Amino acid sequence: MVQITFPDHRVRQYPDGVTGLEIAQSINPQLAKEVLAVTVNGDLWDLTRSILSDSTVKLHKWDDPEGKHAFWHSSAHLMAEALESLYPGVKFGIGPAIENGFYYDVDLGEKVLSEDNLQDIERKMYELAALKSSYRREEISKKEALTLFKLKQDEYKTELISDLEDGTITLYKHGSFTDLCRGPHLPDTSPIKAIKVLSLAGAYWRGDEKRKQLTRIYGITFPKKSMLDEYMVLLEEAKKRDHRKIGRDLELFTFSQRVGNGLPLWLPKGAVLRERLENFLRQVQKEYGYEPVITPHIGHKDLYVTSGHFAKYGKDSFKPIQTPVEGEEFLLKPMNCPHHCEIYRSKPRSYKDLPLRLAEFGTVYRYEQSGELHGLTRVRGFTQDDAHIFCRPEQIKEEFAKVIDIVLYIFKTLDFKEFVSQISLRDRDKPEKYIGSDDNWDKAEQSIIEIAKEKGLDSLIVPGEAAFYGPKLDFLVKDAIGRQWQLGTIQVDYNLPERFELEYIGEDNQRHRPVMIHRAPFGSMERFVAVLIEHTAGKFPLWLAPDQAILLPISEKYQKYAEGVLKYLNNSDIRTLIDNRNEKIGKKIRDNELRRIPYLIIVGEKEETEGLLSVRKQGHGDLGTMKPEQLVDMIRKEIHELLNRNGI
Ligand SMILES: [Zn+2]
Ligand SMILES: [Zn+2]
Repeated sequence: MVQITFPDHRVRQYPDGVTGLEIAQSINPQLAKEVLAVTVNGDLWDLTRSILSDSTVKLHKWDDPEGKHAFWHSSAHLMAEALESLYPGVKFGIGPAIENGFYYDVDLGEKVLSEDNLQDIERKMYELAALKSSYRREEISKKEALTLFKLKQDEYKTELISDLEDGTITLYKHGSFTDLCRGPHLPDTSPIKAIKVLSLAGAYWRGDEKRKQLTRIYGITFPKKSMLDEYMVLLEEAKKRDHRKIGRDLELFTFSQRVGNGLPLWLPKGAVLRERLENFLRQVQKEYGYEPVITPHIGHKDLYVTSGHFAKYGKDSFKPIQTPVEGEEFLLKPMNCPHHCEIYRSKPRSYKDLPLRLAEFGTVYRYEQSGELHGLTRVRGFTQDDAHIFCRPEQIKEEFAKVIDIVLYIFKTLDFKEFVSQISLRDRDKPEKYIGSDDNWDKAEQSIIEIAKEKGLDSLIVPGEAAFYGPKLDFLVKDAIGRQWQLGTIQVDYNLPERFELEYIGEDNQRHRPVMIHRAPFGSMERFVAVLIEHTAGKFPLWLAPDQAILLPISEKYQKYAEGVLKYLNNSDIRTLIDNRNEKIGKKIRDNELRRIPYLIIVGEKEETEGLLSVRKQGHGDLGTMKPEQLVDMIRKEIHELLNRNGI
């Protein structure tokens, strides 16, 4: 018999070799129908694999990421089987499950796939899924695996196997398809009920631009047809909100091959938007006692060796910059923290100086693989809304509370109504993994948990997820169409103060080590603007909109009056434009609504004689006529309310 321990600590006895599926069956037959994978002693397993010793077990259904992972990874194999049947001789790269669905990188030789082919693949997958083929796990030696894939003339798998360490290698077989794979997989193909082969892309083998470009085929599958339908609606909506498209339409930002991939160029309207966001945060930070600092974009290599960032980012990032001085090397900064540590060290600090809160919109550079680049969300140069709080250990709780207040104020002001938070703690069974005294960790973790509760956050607490240098609190926001984005993070750090030998003189006249808190409520300006675009579909809150109003003269005759109003509004700090095109007023209204300008101001004969404006508001229609001063008052009041100044 084996002893199986469940997540709720209940223990049950089962015969040797019992499988996850049998355990689910013993609990409830419905569960056995819904379960997709099982975690056994921390490793994700097939449901059909025999458990031979006492184990802790967690069963995963669709709602668990582990369940979806097994489902989608199995679907990637199913797609590969379909491809092999449709295009004999196809060679396979890698085919992982991803956040939404899965993909497979394939080499189709001369064959170029068209949109029609995607439907062929989909049909074939439906056909094969219905066969209920079992996924079978097999262990073989590296040598046997090499022979097998060489025989198949699959040079990609052969290369992957060659790079593996000696020892047993696992294969998964289902139907007529065999793959090199760690698994786990579903028991068989039958739960795959709804299938969509989504799109094609090019992908370099192993992300290396010097190697062959393979065809990446994306797909997604679900256990129910209705789930696929819902997903397709969401996908359509997401396409409309794609920040790359809206960014182009609204002329917010662009990219240039000549400047380099992943290096965004902010256009005037985007720059205005970003500047306003920065000023908004600057103002909030000022009220919370942050002090601005400015540090260079590069730093001596030794700085990052000291901080440990060279070990983390050095090898896979931009190479060091040489100078005319022999052996002297600089790095583009991957993080702002080391620079701020040096600012802390610039003079002796006493307990009375703490907390010291240093803030910088600091631009950092990291070399992301070209396949990973995506609009403004994954770039190679970005500006963090960074700050480091140096405090005494007993100040952590209070400082954390203040950062949470800032984050919540930002979410509220920018209309992110739904969000979740996660507290990452250390793994108490592995103290060797962490730096800093047990006592300090206990205090910091307890403080974060308490303060999150006091702030009304319903946080998920995850032991073992902390960084080696400290616990943290992360925020995930839900956007207008329900997608989750990771935004602000607040992190306690015992490591950098140690590495940089930061000190302060305490009340006891002794030297003490401060604690550092890293925080970036937006994450980065680039990513945050991308999320904001997708959340608002480009209809920014009035205070952020690059253009707040536009004057639409009905004809040339009223242009002069309109220009007078334009001057008045701009002098009143309302960012206003004028549409002087010789077009019908209906067309002017439609065009400018598409530009997502919040206020449209129509002026014609009646308006001019009476000194009035006809005002339309995006999403609210006609507001009637009013005096220019009334419009200014109204807009100012609206902005004041949106910024909810009494909130801080
Ligand atoms: Zn696989
Ligand atoms: Zn930092």
